[in-house]
Amino acid sequence: MNNTVKRFNLIIIGAGASGMVSAIVSARMGNSVLLLEKLPKIGAKLKASGGGRCNLTNTLPNDEFMSRFGKNGRFMTPALDRLDHRGLISFLADIGVECHAPDGYRVFPTTHDSSTIIDAMVQEMKSLGVEILNNQKVESIISDGTKAIGVDTTIDRFEADNIIVASGGLGYPTLGSTGDGYNIAKSIGHNISKLYPAMMPLSTKDEWVSRCRADTIAKVTMRVDIKKYKKMTAIGDLIFTKNGIRGPVVLDFSREITPLLDKFGEVPISINLTKGMNEEQIRRHFKDKLSQNPHINTIQLLETLLPNPISLVLCELSNTEPNISINKQSGEARDKLISLLVWTPLIIDGHDGFSKAMITRGGISLKEIDPYTMQSKVLKGVYFAGEVIDIDGPCGGYNLQWAFASGYLAGLSLDTV
Ligand SMILES: Cc1cc2nc3c(=O)[nH]c(=O)nc-3n(C[C@H](O)[C@H](O)[C@H](O)COP(=O)(O)OP(=O)(O)OC[C@H]3O[C@@H](n4cnc5c(N)ncnc54)[C@H](O)[C@@H]3O)c2cc1C
Repeated sequence: MNNTVKRFNLIIIGAGASGMVSAIVSARMGNSVLLLEKLPKIGAKLKASGGGRCNLTNTLPNDEFMSRFGKNGRFMTPALDRLDHRGLISFLADIGVECHAPDGYRVFPTTHDSSTIIDAMVQEMKSLGVEILNNQKVESIISDGTKAIGVDTTIDRFEADNIIVASGGLGYPTLGSTGDGYNIAKSIGHNISKLYPAMMPLSTKDEWVSRCRADTIAKVTMRVDIKKYKKMTAIGDLIFTKNGIRGPVVLDFSREITPLLDKFGEVPISINLTKGMNEEQIRRHFKDKLSQNPHINTIQLLETLLPNPISLVLCELSNTEPNISINKQSGEARDKLISLLVWTPLIIDGHDGFSKAMITRGGISLKEIDPYTMQSKVLKGVYFAGEVIDIDGPCGGYNLQWAFASGYLAGLSLDTV
Protein backbone atom coordinates (compact mmCIF):
# COMPACT_ATOMS: atom_id res chain seq x y z
CA MET A 1 0.00 0.00 0.00
CA ASN A 2 1.27 3.54 -0.88
CA ASN A 3 2.15 5.76 2.08
CA THR A 4 0.53 8.93 0.69
CA VAL A 5 -3.22 8.53 0.41
CA LYS A 6 -4.68 10.41 -2.57
CA ARG A 7 -7.87 12.35 -1.97
CA PHE A 8 -10.73 13.06 -4.43
CA ASN A 9 -14.26 14.50 -4.32
CA LEU A 10 -15.58 11.31 -5.85
CA ILE A 11 -14.40 7.74 -6.30
CA ILE A 12 -16.27 5.49 -8.73
CA ILE A 13 -16.00 1.72 -8.42
CA GLY A 14 -16.19 0.24 -11.92
CA ALA A 15 -15.57 1.72 -15.37
CA GLY A 16 -18.62 0.32 -17.14
CA ALA A 17 -21.48 2.19 -18.79
CA SER A 18 -22.82 3.67 -15.55
CA GLY A 19 -19.45 4.47 -13.99
CA MET A 20 -18.11 6.33 -17.03
CA VAL A 21 -21.22 8.54 -17.32
CA SER A 22 -21.04 9.32 -13.58
CA ALA A 23 -17.39 10.31 -13.98
CA ILE A 24 -18.12 12.69 -16.88
CA VAL A 25 -21.12 14.36 -15.26
CA SER A 26 -19.43 14.83 -11.93
CA ALA A 27 -16.15 16.08 -13.42
CA ARG A 28 -18.09 18.61 -15.52
CA MET A 29 -19.38 20.04 -12.24
CA GLY A 30 -15.77 20.66 -11.19
CA ASN A 31 -15.29 17.60 -8.97
CA SER A 32 -12.00 15.73 -8.81
CA VAL A 33 -12.90 12.19 -9.87
CA LEU A 34 -11.10 8.86 -9.56
CA LEU A 35 -12.45 5.97 -11.67
CA LEU A 36 -11.23 2.58 -10.44
CA GLU A 37 -11.46 -0.47 -12.70
CA LYS A 38 -10.28 -3.93 -11.80
CA LEU A 39 -9.71 -5.11 -15.39
CA PRO A 40 -6.75 -3.97 -17.49
CA LYS A 41 -9.23 -2.28 -19.88
CA ILE A 42 -12.32 -0.19 -19.24
CA GLY A 43 -15.83 -0.71 -20.61
CA ALA A 44 -15.40 -4.42 -21.40
CA LYS A 45 -19.11 -5.24 -21.13
CA LEU A 46 -20.16 -2.13 -23.03
CA LYS A 47 -17.79 -3.20 -25.78
CA ALA A 48 -19.42 -6.64 -26.01
CA SER A 49 -22.96 -5.31 -25.85
CA GLY A 50 -25.35 -5.90 -28.70
CA GLY A 51 -22.80 -8.25 -30.28
CA GLY A 52 -20.36 -5.29 -30.40
CA ARG A 53 -22.95 -3.03 -32.05
CA CYS A 54 -24.29 -1.67 -28.75
CA ASN A 55 -28.06 -1.32 -28.65
CA LEU A 56 -27.75 1.51 -26.17
CA THR A 57 -31.41 2.50 -25.71
CA ASN A 58 -34.78 2.51 -27.47
CA THR A 59 -37.35 5.10 -28.45
CA LEU A 60 -40.22 4.07 -26.15
CA PRO A 61 -41.85 6.85 -24.11
CA ASN A 62 -40.66 6.76 -20.48
CA ASP A 63 -43.87 5.29 -19.01
CA GLU A 64 -43.88 2.41 -21.46
CA PHE A 65 -40.13 1.95 -21.07
CA MET A 66 -40.48 1.60 -17.28
CA SER A 67 -43.46 -0.75 -17.54
CA ARG A 68 -41.24 -3.33 -19.31
CA PHE A 69 -39.13 -3.67 -16.15
CA GLY A 70 -42.04 -4.99 -14.06
CA LYS A 71 -42.84 -3.91 -10.53
CA ASN A 72 -39.52 -2.13 -9.91
CA GLY A 73 -39.73 -0.01 -13.06
CA ARG A 74 -41.21 3.15 -11.48
CA PHE A 75 -38.07 3.52 -9.36
CA MET A 76 -36.39 4.82 -12.51
CA THR A 77 -38.68 7.87 -12.87
CA PRO A 78 -36.29 10.52 -11.49
CA ALA A 79 -33.30 9.04 -13.35
CA LEU A 80 -35.19 9.02 -16.66
CA ASP A 81 -36.44 12.55 -15.98
CA ARG A 82 -32.77 13.53 -16.00
CA LEU A 83 -31.60 11.29 -18.85
CA ASP A 84 -34.10 9.41 -20.98
CA HIS A 85 -33.35 8.13 -24.48
CA ARG A 86 -33.49 11.65 -25.96
CA GLY A 87 -31.18 12.95 -23.25
CA LEU A 88 -28.79 10.05 -23.79
CA ILE A 89 -28.68 10.59 -27.54
CA SER A 90 -27.91 14.26 -27.03
CA PHE A 91 -25.34 13.50 -24.28
CA LEU A 92 -23.56 11.22 -26.73
CA ALA A 93 -23.84 13.76 -29.58
CA ASP A 94 -22.10 16.30 -27.29
CA ILE A 95 -19.08 14.00 -27.03
CA GLY A 96 -19.10 13.29 -30.76
CA VAL A 97 -21.12 10.06 -31.01
CA GLU A 98 -23.99 10.15 -33.50
CA CYS A 99 -26.79 7.64 -32.96
CA HIS A 100 -29.70 6.38 -35.00
CA ALA A 101 -32.62 3.95 -34.80
CA PRO A 102 -32.65 2.02 -38.10
CA ASP A 103 -35.92 0.22 -37.19
CA GLY A 104 -37.38 3.28 -35.47
CA TYR A 105 -37.07 1.54 -32.08
CA ARG A 106 -33.62 0.25 -31.16
CA VAL A 107 -30.91 2.91 -30.95
CA PHE A 108 -27.28 2.26 -31.96
CA PRO A 109 -24.26 4.45 -32.62
CA THR A 110 -24.27 5.12 -36.39
CA THR A 111 -20.93 3.28 -36.59
CA HIS A 112 -22.64 0.18 -35.11
CA ASP A 113 -19.49 -0.21 -33.08
CA SER A 114 -19.55 0.09 -29.29
CA SER A 115 -15.88 1.18 -29.29
CA THR A 116 -17.04 4.52 -30.71
CA ILE A 117 -18.84 5.21 -27.42
CA ILE A 118 -16.02 3.97 -25.21
CA ASP A 119 -13.39 5.98 -27.12
CA ALA A 120 -15.50 9.15 -26.94
CA MET A 121 -16.10 8.71 -23.22
CA VAL A 122 -12.43 8.10 -22.52
CA GLN A 123 -11.55 11.22 -24.52
CA GLU A 124 -14.10 13.28 -22.59
CA MET A 125 -12.94 11.94 -19.22
CA LYS A 126 -9.32 12.73 -20.08
CA SER A 127 -10.14 16.26 -21.14
CA LEU A 128 -12.05 16.75 -17.87
CA GLY A 129 -9.10 15.47 -15.84
CA VAL A 130 -10.77 12.28 -14.55
CA GLU A 131 -8.10 9.97 -13.15
CA ILE A 132 -8.61 6.44 -14.48
CA LEU A 133 -6.77 3.59 -12.79
CA ASN A 134 -6.93 0.04 -14.17
CA ASN A 135 -6.06 -3.18 -12.35
CA GLN A 136 -7.48 -1.67 -9.15
CA LYS A 137 -9.96 -4.05 -7.54
CA VAL A 138 -11.91 -2.29 -4.80
CA GLU A 139 -12.36 -4.52 -1.79
CA SER A 140 -14.22 -2.30 0.65
CA ILE A 141 -15.64 1.11 1.43
CA ILE A 142 -14.11 2.79 4.47
CA SER A 143 -16.47 4.67 6.76
CA ASP A 144 -15.99 6.81 9.86
CA GLY A 145 -19.13 5.29 11.32
CA THR A 146 -21.49 7.92 9.91
CA LYS A 147 -20.32 8.48 6.35
CA ALA A 148 -18.05 7.08 3.64
CA ILE A 149 -14.49 8.37 3.65
CA GLY A 150 -12.75 6.25 1.03
CA VAL A 151 -12.03 2.84 -0.42
CA ASP A 152 -9.44 0.13 -0.08
CA THR A 153 -8.34 -1.69 -3.21
CA THR A 154 -6.16 -4.79 -3.21
CA ILE A 155 -3.12 -2.51 -3.52
CA ASP A 156 -4.02 1.04 -2.44
CA ARG A 157 -6.22 3.23 -0.26
CA PHE A 158 -7.97 6.29 -1.74
CA GLU A 159 -10.01 8.89 0.11
CA ALA A 160 -13.24 10.65 -0.90
CA ASP A 161 -16.48 11.72 0.77
CA ASN A 162 -18.46 10.34 -2.14
CA ILE A 163 -18.30 6.83 -3.57
CA ILE A 164 -20.39 5.55 -6.48
CA VAL A 165 -20.68 1.77 -6.62
CA ALA A 166 -21.04 1.05 -10.35
CA SER A 167 -19.54 -2.41 -10.36
CA GLY A 168 -22.24 -4.29 -12.33
CA GLY A 169 -23.91 -7.61 -11.57
CA LEU A 170 -22.83 -11.24 -11.83
CA GLY A 171 -23.42 -12.03 -15.49
CA TYR A 172 -20.61 -12.75 -17.96
CA PRO A 173 -17.92 -12.63 -15.23
CA THR A 174 -15.18 -12.69 -17.86
CA LEU A 175 -16.23 -9.10 -18.66
CA GLY A 176 -15.38 -7.92 -15.15
CA SER A 177 -18.48 -7.92 -13.02
CA THR A 178 -18.27 -10.75 -10.52
CA GLY A 179 -20.65 -9.51 -7.87
CA ASP A 180 -18.13 -7.49 -5.81
CA GLY A 181 -20.64 -4.63 -5.54
CA TYR A 182 -23.12 -6.84 -3.69
CA ASN A 183 -20.50 -7.80 -1.10
CA ILE A 184 -19.36 -4.21 -0.71
CA ALA A 185 -22.98 -3.07 -0.25
CA LYS A 186 -23.68 -5.88 2.22
CA SER A 187 -20.63 -4.96 4.27
CA ILE A 188 -22.00 -1.46 4.86
CA GLY A 189 -25.43 -2.81 5.85
CA HIS A 190 -27.42 -3.09 2.62
CA ASN A 191 -29.77 -5.96 1.79
CA ILE A 192 -29.47 -7.77 -1.52
CA SER A 193 -32.52 -9.42 -3.06
CA LYS A 194 -32.09 -12.95 -4.40
CA LEU A 195 -29.87 -12.96 -7.50
CA TYR A 196 -30.75 -14.92 -10.64
CA PRO A 197 -29.01 -15.20 -13.98
CA ALA A 198 -31.12 -13.69 -16.77
CA MET A 199 -31.06 -13.09 -20.51
CA MET A 200 -29.56 -16.34 -21.68
CA PRO A 201 -30.36 -19.56 -23.55
CA LEU A 202 -32.43 -22.21 -21.77
CA SER A 203 -32.15 -25.98 -21.91
CA THR A 204 -35.18 -28.22 -22.40
CA LYS A 205 -36.04 -31.75 -21.32
CA ASP A 206 -37.64 -32.59 -24.69
CA GLU A 207 -35.19 -34.65 -26.78
CA TRP A 208 -36.87 -33.71 -30.09
CA VAL A 209 -35.48 -30.18 -29.79
CA SER A 210 -32.05 -31.35 -30.97
CA ARG A 211 -33.59 -32.57 -34.24
CA CYS A 212 -34.77 -29.02 -34.95
CA ARG A 213 -31.34 -27.55 -34.18
CA ALA A 214 -30.76 -24.20 -35.93
CA ASP A 215 -34.39 -23.88 -37.03
CA THR A 216 -35.26 -20.21 -36.55
CA ILE A 217 -38.92 -19.36 -36.09
CA ALA A 218 -40.09 -15.75 -36.25
CA LYS A 219 -42.61 -14.11 -33.90
CA VAL A 220 -42.95 -16.98 -31.46
CA THR A 221 -45.20 -16.46 -28.44
CA MET A 222 -44.07 -18.15 -25.22
CA ARG A 223 -46.13 -18.59 -22.07
CA VAL A 224 -45.57 -20.28 -18.73
CA ASP A 225 -47.88 -23.22 -18.06
CA ILE A 226 -48.03 -22.98 -14.30
CA LYS A 227 -51.43 -21.80 -13.05
CA LYS A 228 -50.29 -18.83 -10.98
CA TYR A 229 -47.87 -17.61 -13.64
CA LYS A 230 -49.97 -17.99 -16.81
CA LYS A 231 -49.84 -14.26 -17.45
CA MET A 232 -46.10 -14.46 -18.19
CA THR A 233 -45.69 -14.22 -21.94
CA ALA A 234 -43.13 -12.96 -24.46
CA ILE A 235 -43.02 -12.64 -28.24
CA GLY A 236 -40.02 -12.73 -30.59
CA ASP A 237 -37.74 -14.89 -32.70
CA LEU A 238 -36.74 -18.33 -31.37
CA ILE A 239 -33.91 -20.64 -32.38
CA PHE A 240 -33.74 -24.32 -31.45
CA THR A 241 -30.35 -25.53 -30.24
CA LYS A 242 -28.69 -28.87 -29.53
CA ASN A 243 -30.31 -29.05 -26.10
CA GLY A 244 -32.74 -26.19 -25.81
CA ILE A 245 -33.81 -22.80 -27.12
CA ARG A 246 -32.24 -19.40 -27.63
CA GLY A 247 -32.95 -16.19 -29.54
CA PRO A 248 -34.46 -12.82 -28.54
CA VAL A 249 -37.72 -14.21 -27.14
CA VAL A 250 -35.79 -16.67 -24.97
CA LEU A 251 -33.42 -13.96 -23.73
CA ASP A 252 -36.43 -11.90 -22.68
CA PHE A 253 -38.32 -14.80 -21.17
CA SER A 254 -35.38 -16.25 -19.26
CA ARG A 255 -35.57 -13.46 -16.66
CA GLU A 256 -39.03 -14.75 -15.72
CA ILE A 257 -38.03 -18.41 -15.93
CA THR A 258 -34.90 -18.58 -13.78
CA PRO A 259 -36.70 -17.69 -10.52
CA LEU A 260 -39.37 -20.30 -11.39
CA LEU A 261 -36.70 -22.93 -12.12
CA ASP A 262 -35.24 -22.20 -8.73
CA LYS A 263 -38.66 -22.73 -7.15
CA PHE A 264 -40.01 -25.69 -9.14
CA GLY A 265 -36.93 -27.40 -10.64
CA GLU A 266 -38.64 -27.62 -14.06
CA VAL A 267 -40.89 -25.12 -15.81
CA PRO A 268 -43.54 -26.27 -18.31
CA ILE A 269 -44.08 -23.70 -21.04
CA SER A 270 -45.99 -23.55 -24.34
CA ILE A 271 -44.84 -21.91 -27.54
CA ASN A 272 -46.91 -20.77 -30.48
CA LEU A 273 -44.77 -21.34 -33.57
CA THR A 274 -47.34 -20.06 -36.08
CA LYS A 275 -47.04 -16.30 -35.60
CA GLY A 276 -49.91 -16.26 -33.12
CA MET A 277 -52.43 -18.19 -35.29
CA ASN A 278 -55.32 -19.70 -33.35
CA GLU A 279 -57.13 -22.96 -34.12
CA GLU A 280 -59.66 -21.37 -36.43
CA GLN A 281 -56.99 -19.54 -38.43
CA ILE A 282 -54.96 -22.74 -38.79
CA ARG A 283 -57.97 -24.72 -40.01
CA ARG A 284 -58.75 -21.93 -42.52
CA HIS A 285 -55.11 -21.88 -43.67
CA PHE A 286 -55.19 -25.65 -44.25
CA LYS A 287 -58.48 -25.36 -46.17
CA ASP A 288 -57.05 -22.62 -48.42
CA LYS A 289 -53.91 -24.63 -49.17
CA LEU A 290 -55.95 -27.78 -49.90
CA SER A 291 -58.24 -25.87 -52.25
CA GLN A 292 -55.14 -24.58 -54.11
CA ASN A 293 -53.61 -28.09 -54.24
CA PRO A 294 -55.89 -31.02 -53.30
CA HIS A 295 -52.92 -33.47 -53.49
CA ILE A 296 -50.81 -31.74 -50.86
CA ASN A 297 -49.84 -34.16 -48.05
CA THR A 298 -49.62 -33.38 -44.34
CA ILE A 299 -45.90 -32.65 -44.21
CA GLN A 300 -46.12 -30.33 -47.24
CA LEU A 301 -49.05 -28.59 -45.61
CA LEU A 302 -47.10 -28.08 -42.40
CA GLU A 303 -44.13 -26.80 -44.38
CA THR A 304 -46.27 -23.89 -45.54
CA LEU A 305 -46.01 -22.73 -41.92
CA LEU A 306 -42.81 -24.22 -40.48
CA PRO A 307 -39.40 -25.69 -41.45
CA ASN A 308 -39.27 -29.41 -42.24
CA PRO A 309 -37.62 -30.71 -39.01
CA ILE A 310 -40.16 -29.15 -36.66
CA SER A 311 -43.00 -30.16 -39.02
CA LEU A 312 -41.83 -33.78 -38.78
CA VAL A 313 -41.63 -33.54 -34.99
CA LEU A 314 -45.19 -32.22 -34.80
CA CYS A 315 -46.37 -35.17 -36.94
CA GLU A 316 -44.64 -37.53 -34.57
CA LEU A 317 -46.06 -35.86 -31.45
CA SER A 318 -49.59 -35.93 -32.86
CA ASN A 319 -49.38 -39.43 -34.39
CA THR A 320 -50.12 -38.09 -37.85
CA GLU A 321 -48.69 -39.75 -40.94
CA PRO A 322 -46.59 -37.13 -42.78
CA ASN A 323 -47.06 -38.54 -46.28
CA ILE A 324 -50.84 -38.69 -46.52
CA SER A 325 -53.43 -35.93 -46.83
CA ILE A 326 -54.52 -34.17 -43.66
CA ASN A 327 -58.08 -35.24 -44.52
CA LYS A 328 -57.05 -38.90 -44.32
CA GLN A 329 -55.68 -38.59 -40.76
CA SER A 330 -57.88 -39.74 -37.91
CA GLY A 331 -59.96 -36.92 -36.43
CA GLU A 332 -58.12 -37.30 -33.13
CA ALA A 333 -54.65 -37.04 -34.74
CA ARG A 334 -55.70 -34.03 -36.85
CA ASP A 335 -57.09 -32.21 -33.81
CA LYS A 336 -53.95 -32.99 -31.84
CA LEU A 337 -51.76 -31.65 -34.66
CA ILE A 338 -53.76 -28.42 -34.81
CA SER A 339 -53.61 -27.99 -31.05
CA LEU A 340 -49.82 -28.47 -31.18
CA LEU A 341 -49.58 -25.79 -33.85
CA VAL A 342 -51.40 -23.43 -31.51
CA TRP A 343 -49.38 -24.39 -28.42
CA THR A 344 -46.39 -26.73 -28.51
CA PRO A 345 -45.43 -27.83 -24.99
CA LEU A 346 -41.83 -27.77 -23.77
CA ILE A 347 -40.25 -28.35 -20.40
CA ILE A 348 -37.46 -25.99 -19.39
CA ASP A 349 -35.04 -27.81 -17.14
CA GLY A 350 -31.95 -25.63 -16.84
CA HIS A 351 -29.49 -23.03 -18.06
CA ASP A 352 -25.77 -22.32 -18.00
CA GLY A 353 -25.87 -20.01 -14.99
CA PHE A 354 -24.20 -16.63 -14.71
CA SER A 355 -21.43 -17.49 -17.17
CA LYS A 356 -23.88 -17.01 -20.06
CA ALA A 357 -26.23 -14.51 -18.39
CA MET A 358 -26.22 -11.09 -20.02
CA ILE A 359 -27.80 -9.53 -16.96
CA THR A 360 -28.56 -10.26 -13.33
CA ARG A 361 -32.05 -10.32 -11.90
CA GLY A 362 -32.09 -8.93 -8.36
CA GLY A 363 -29.62 -6.69 -6.58
CA ILE A 364 -29.34 -3.98 -3.94
CA SER A 365 -32.74 -3.39 -2.37
CA LEU A 366 -34.55 -0.37 -3.83
CA LYS A 367 -35.95 0.50 -0.41
CA GLU A 368 -32.46 1.45 0.69
CA ILE A 369 -31.65 3.82 -2.21
CA ASP A 370 -33.05 7.32 -2.72
CA PRO A 371 -34.34 7.30 -6.33
CA TYR A 372 -33.91 11.10 -6.58
CA THR A 373 -30.16 10.99 -5.92
CA MET A 374 -29.20 7.28 -6.04
CA GLN A 375 -27.69 7.81 -2.59
CA SER A 376 -27.63 5.00 -0.03
CA LYS A 377 -30.10 5.44 2.82
CA VAL A 378 -27.77 3.28 4.91
CA LEU A 379 -24.42 5.11 4.66
CA LYS A 380 -24.08 8.78 3.70
CA GLY A 381 -21.85 9.50 0.74
CA VAL A 382 -22.39 6.12 -0.96
CA TYR A 383 -24.30 6.07 -4.26
CA PHE A 384 -25.27 3.21 -6.56
CA ALA A 385 -25.66 3.03 -10.34
CA GLY A 386 -26.42 0.42 -12.99
CA GLU A 387 -26.92 -3.30 -12.80
CA VAL A 388 -25.81 -3.66 -9.17
CA ILE A 389 -29.24 -2.26 -8.20
CA ASP A 390 -32.35 -4.50 -8.10
CA ILE A 391 -33.56 -3.46 -11.56
CA ASP A 392 -33.43 -5.49 -14.75
CA GLY A 393 -35.13 -5.09 -18.08
CA PRO A 394 -35.69 -7.12 -21.24
CA CYS A 395 -33.64 -7.11 -24.45
CA GLY A 396 -33.61 -3.98 -26.56
CA GLY A 397 -31.46 -1.26 -24.99
CA TYR A 398 -33.33 -1.26 -21.67
CA ASN A 399 -30.45 -2.25 -19.42
CA LEU A 400 -27.89 0.11 -20.90
CA GLN A 401 -30.36 3.01 -20.77
CA TRP A 402 -30.85 2.26 -17.08
CA ALA A 403 -27.07 2.06 -16.51
CA PHE A 404 -26.49 5.40 -18.27
CA ALA A 405 -29.46 7.16 -16.61
CA SER A 406 -28.67 5.97 -13.07
CA GLY A 407 -24.97 6.79 -13.55
CA TYR A 408 -25.90 10.25 -14.78
CA LEU A 409 -28.20 10.92 -11.81
CA ALA A 410 -25.68 9.63 -9.26
CA GLY A 411 -22.90 11.76 -10.78
CA LEU A 412 -25.13 14.81 -10.78
CA SER A 413 -26.32 14.37 -7.21
CA LEU A 414 -23.03 14.86 -5.39
CA ASP A 415 -23.03 18.02 -3.40
CA THR A 416 -19.32 18.64 -3.15
CA VAL A 417 -17.89 21.64 -4.95
C1 LIG B 1 -22.77 -10.01 -24.05
C2 LIG B 1 -23.69 -8.91 -23.54
C3 LIG B 1 -24.42 -8.14 -24.45
C4 LIG B 1 -25.26 -7.13 -23.98
N1 LIG B 1 -25.94 -6.37 -24.88
C5 LIG B 1 -26.74 -5.36 -24.44
C6 LIG B 1 -27.37 -4.49 -25.35
O1 LIG B 1 -27.17 -4.55 -26.58
N2 LIG B 1 -28.21 -3.52 -24.84
C7 LIG B 1 -28.42 -3.38 -23.50
O2 LIG B 1 -29.16 -2.49 -23.10
N3 LIG B 1 -27.78 -4.17 -22.60
C8 LIG B 1 -26.95 -5.14 -23.04
N4 LIG B 1 -26.30 -5.93 -22.13
C9 LIG B 1 -26.42 -5.61 -20.68
C10 LIG B 1 -25.59 -4.36 -20.36
O3 LIG B 1 -24.34 -4.45 -21.01
C11 LIG B 1 -25.39 -4.20 -18.85
O4 LIG B 1 -26.65 -4.18 -18.22
C12 LIG B 1 -24.64 -2.91 -18.54
O5 LIG B 1 -23.38 -2.89 -19.19
C13 LIG B 1 -24.43 -2.74 -17.05
O6 LIG B 1 -23.64 -1.59 -16.85
P1 LIG B 1 -22.97 -1.32 -15.43
O7 LIG B 1 -22.22 -0.03 -15.57
O8 LIG B 1 -23.95 -1.43 -14.35
O9 LIG B 1 -21.96 -2.55 -15.22
P2 LIG B 1 -20.76 -3.09 -16.13
O10 LIG B 1 -20.85 -2.60 -17.51
O11 LIG B 1 -20.70 -4.55 -15.88
O12 LIG B 1 -19.49 -2.38 -15.48
C14 LIG B 1 -19.03 -2.70 -14.19
C15 LIG B 1 -17.53 -2.49 -14.18
O13 LIG B 1 -17.08 -2.59 -12.84
C16 LIG B 1 -15.87 -3.30 -12.81
N5 LIG B 1 -15.73 -3.84 -11.46
C17 LIG B 1 -16.44 -4.85 -10.90
N6 LIG B 1 -16.04 -5.05 -9.63
C18 LIG B 1 -15.05 -4.16 -9.40
C19 LIG B 1 -14.22 -3.90 -8.28
N7 LIG B 1 -14.31 -4.60 -7.13
N8 LIG B 1 -13.29 -2.92 -8.37
C20 LIG B 1 -13.14 -2.21 -9.52
N9 LIG B 1 -13.88 -2.43 -10.62
C21 LIG B 1 -14.83 -3.38 -10.54
C22 LIG B 1 -16.05 -4.35 -13.88
O14 LIG B 1 -14.82 -4.88 -14.32
C23 LIG B 1 -16.79 -3.57 -14.96
O15 LIG B 1 -15.91 -2.95 -15.86
C24 LIG B 1 -25.41 -6.92 -22.58
C25 LIG B 1 -24.67 -7.69 -21.68
C26 LIG B 1 -23.81 -8.67 -22.15
C27 LIG B 1 -23.01 -9.48 -21.17
